[in-house]
Amino acid sequence: MTATCPECDAEIILTGKVLVGEIVTCPECGTELEVIDLNPPQLDLAPQEEEDWGE
Ligand SMILES: [Zn+2]
Repeated sequence: MTATCPECDAEIILTGKVLVGEIVTCPECGTELEVIDLNPPQLDLAPQEEEDWGE
């Protein structure tokens, strides 16, 4: 499935298991994007925070 980068309108291919809340990086502009919906796939800008995956 694919989603569109809200920053640069690039089409981003989502592969493997993608979950809501997952962070993906746009291959075109490098922006970190959060998956906010899966049906249809939608991306939004990820919060600008330090990477901290917890575990
Ligand atoms: Zn982009």
